[in-house]
Amino acid sequence: MIDSHCHLDLPEFKTDLKTVLKQSSEAGVTRFLIPGTTQEGWQRQLTIQNNFPQCDIAFGLHPYFLTDEDDSLSQLQCWVEKHRHICVAIGEIGLDATVNTPLKKQQELFLGQLELAQQFELPVIMHHRKTHHLLIEGVKKVNFKYGGVIHAFSGSEEVARQYIDRGFLLGIGGTITYPRASKTRQTVSVIPLEYLLLETDAPDMPMQGRQGQRNSPAFISDVAKSLAELKNLEKKSVISQTTENYWRLFNVDG
Ligand SMILES: [Zn+2]
Repeated sequence: MIDSHCHLDLPEFKTDLKTVLKQSSEAGVTRFLIPGTTQEGWQRQLTIQNNFPQCDIAFGLHPYFLTDEDDSLSQLQCWVEKHRHICVAIGEIGLDATVNTPLKKQQELFLGQLELAQQFELPVIMHHRKTHHLLIEGVKKVNFKYGGVIHAFSGSEEVARQYIDRGFLLGIGGTITYPRASKTRQTVSVIPLEYLLLETDAPDMPMQGRQGQRNSPAFISDVAKSLAELKNLEKKSVISQTTENYWRLFNVDG
């Protein structure tokens, strides 16, 4: 299994990352993707990747941590240029309508990062929250060609298909382990497995039955199990297809 979205660079994993990776490996997780969130975090991601080559890394500026420094985009450009060989995507980028930062400002940074990804011929990792229409609008505006993943996808089949038509995969995480997430569960049940990736978003988004605990890639098997149930498939087919999807999208050698 591959955890295509986990924030192992965050302080929550600072003291026991090695143990977390070992537990995850014992649980069958062979690869991890750590998306970037802030400029301060990029160096730490590099260090982790150096020490643990099973961790892939992406660099980006998350809308949650948007600051007033207007050179952050050019900093990102320099950083990716320097570390292009090790960077598998631009992200986590996106738009969030539930935070205080004005959407207009978020959009500027989002479009800038999409253009950067286009320039480097890299896929993107996209964060959404009540912003599907604006994300799709941005992708069309830039005529973005390298696809990516919609992190923690939730939404209707119609929305899902709009992304898929533009070359995106859907990141499927702990949300589907909750029976109350009926719309997303319904969507996931009808979207072909070729378009799905497994993810945890650790340390956030705990799965059903693990609320209040730090989330970990070691628990990703819960997502694979729920996905298999929803699609009436064997868990091992879910694992092998989502693994193949990962290699296809991020173009890294397994
Ligand atoms: Zn994230």
